[in-house]
Amino acid sequence: MRGRLLFSAFAMLIAAPAAAQTPRPKLIVAISVDQFSADLFAEYRQHFTGGLHRLSEGVVFPAGYQGHAATETCPGHSTILTGSRPYRTGIVANDWLDQSAAREDKVIYCAEDESVPGSSSRNYTVSAKHLLVPTLGERMKAANPATRVVSVAGKDRAAVMMGGHKVDQLWFWNGKDYVTIAGQPDPDPVVAPFRSALAARLAQAQPPMPVPDMCRSRDRAIPIGDGKTVGTWRFDRAAGDTAKFRASPELDDANLTLATALIDSMKLGQGPVPDIISIGESATDYVGHGYGTEGVEMCIQLLALDKRLGDFFDHLDRSGVDYAVVLTADHGGHDLPERNRIHAAPDAQRVDGSLDIKAIGARIAREQRLKGPVLLANGGDVYLDRTLPERRRAKVIRRAAELIRQAPQAQDVLVGADIAAMSQPHTPPETWSFAERARASYYPGRSGDLIVALKERVTPIAAPPTRGYVATHGSFWDYDRRVPMLFWWKGAQNFEQPLGVETADILPTLASLIGLDVPAAEIDGRCLDLDASEGSNCPVVAPAPAR
Ligand code: ZN
Repeated sequence: MRGRLLFSAFAMLIAAPAAAQTPRPKLIVAISVDQFSADLFAEYRQHFTGGLHRLSEGVVFPAGYQGHAATETCPGHSTILTGSRPYRTGIVANDWLDQSAAREDKVIYCAEDESVPGSSSRNYTVSAKHLLVPTLGERMKAANPATRVVSVAGKDRAAVMMGGHKVDQLWFWNGKDYVTIAGQPDPDPVVAPFRSALAARLAQAQPPMPVPDMCRSRDRAIPIGDGKTVGTWRFDRAAGDTAKFRASPELDDANLTLATALIDSMKLGQGPVPDIISIGESATDYVGHGYGTEGVEMCIQLLALDKRLGDFFDHLDRSGVDYAVVLTADHGGHDLPERNRIHAAPDAQRVDGSLDIKAIGARIAREQRLKGPVLLANGGDVYLDRTLPERRRAKVIRRAAELIRQAPQAQDVLVGADIAAMSQPHTPPETWSFAERARASYYPGRSGDLIVALKERVTPIAAPPTRGYVATHGSFWDYDRRVPMLFWWKGAQNFEQPLGVETADILPTLASLIGLDVPAAEIDGRCLDLDASEGSNCPVVAPAPAR
């Protein structure tokens, strides 16, 4: 009796700090800032005063990893709320080749249903069909059908990959307007007035944005060829210019306006069970692609986003909803080579055409007396022409790998069959080999037969950049893999863990906060202990028996 009393007193003692630390949120707010690299977070965090400052005072993982090789938007967003790496989500790239597809270019977009008659890679029907695993929202709904799942984003693939297959309200900017997908529930009543207000705003020209003091040092024109420059743009736009709207703080503002309206109208976080909203803030990516990461444009964009997020959280505070936030990114990025070269990185370069998969395919066709293109390329994925006879394929792969390796801008080339035969990496993501990075985003049938890794600091956009894209991401290198992961809730005790973690860890971590059971075998991530003290939000796992 006395022993038991002592035991319960002791149990209370160790339980008390955990109870104070562990939130039980009624609303999960999951925010992805597209292309918000760990480097940008490090560069700007001391200057944030709004929402990003608030999140920096929560639990901070400055080295979150989108650990896989395919550091693109769709794979990245597919990891954030599924607990899974792209090899498991099936989202191996923004698009891939399916040589059996009816369409002429054989390109399949990650967030489409290509079986819809008349669709093409340019005119596609948005769908979550290719996502092979459930999202956190879907798991919450399965446990509690009363859970509401809402997804809002500046890109269709961000909305779909974070929302999943069953969403109560799903809205994304399609280049002209916010739209949803077929088969969705009726639009919430706030959507129509939001859309007309946005249309009215778009119809008005916008003046240049002011340059904050700290951005002045970045305000400098960088020539990029053809008489063009980047580095000094202030986001003014003509009436109706939707392209300029998209690559500006206006898009992120619109997203958060719609998200706020939906939270209020649907009373998210005020029902009997937890709800979730995912928000894809896409403008940082468009700004990075259009102007690079180190000019006045990115400075204005990130400070505007910080302020707008601050207003958004202030609004949530006033609503009294008990919410928890995670903010991360789908991939990192780095600056355009022209500015990198004058900023102490003289080895930065653009692809120079010396790695030409089509020419390598033609050469192998001549050497081995084969017909057809032999090799087909889509980004870093290289596919063997499917009409090649089975018995000829091994020799073609060997020769193609040899020739690709000789290209001066190629770092490595990995053979798909070898990658597929590997097991998944279990060490921290900063230690992974190139083969392990490729393994984490390899899905047979969608990924290439060969995966090409370019050398560090090689930007796969030829000079002079056309079509408004001057910088990009998508490489095997850490500047594209590393992203911040920030957790915040009211009362969170600040701590920082600089060691590497994965974005796949987000789902089990959030699940622990709402008491949702997720079988470990179904995911790749692990629950992160957000409790600054000895307590933990993570479920107790029975220790493995001693051997
Ligand atoms: Zn992206």
